[in-house]
Amino acid sequence: MESTSRRFDGPLAELLTLRDAGTCRTPWCNATIRHLDHVQRATDAGPTTAANGQGLCERCNHVKETPGWTTWVAHPSDTTRHEVHGVTEHLRMTRSTSPPLPGGPTGGWDYSPAELHLASTYTLAT
Ligand SMILES: [Zn+2]
Repeated sequence: MESTSRRFDGPLAELLTLRDAGTCRTPWCNATIRHLDHVQRATDAGPTTAANGQGLCERCNHVKETPGWTTWVAHPSDTTRHEVHGVTEHLRMTRSTSPPLPGGPTGGWDYSPAELHLASTYTLAT
């Protein structure tokens, strides 16, 4: 689902809010969604699509705009679970997976223990 508008509105906004269960996608935030955000910024040619959209609380959306932050959709063609990866200005990696869809597969991507460890602790700083 996509829109020619820069804003996520109408059915696309409802889809993103339902997919993200009304909760901010930043790990451990759990605040109510206030902004529907482009994972790849619209100013960087990010499309207004379900794959490139995510629900964030106001605080997390403003923090995400901090210079040095980068986010991307991990598996844009996957339709089971929406996953966003990011790197903060302090070179910390983040990963956010949408909640499972009702009646859909409950599992996310299978990662090895080593991949999970790297995803939670790896920094690009040497
Ligand atoms: Zn948040």
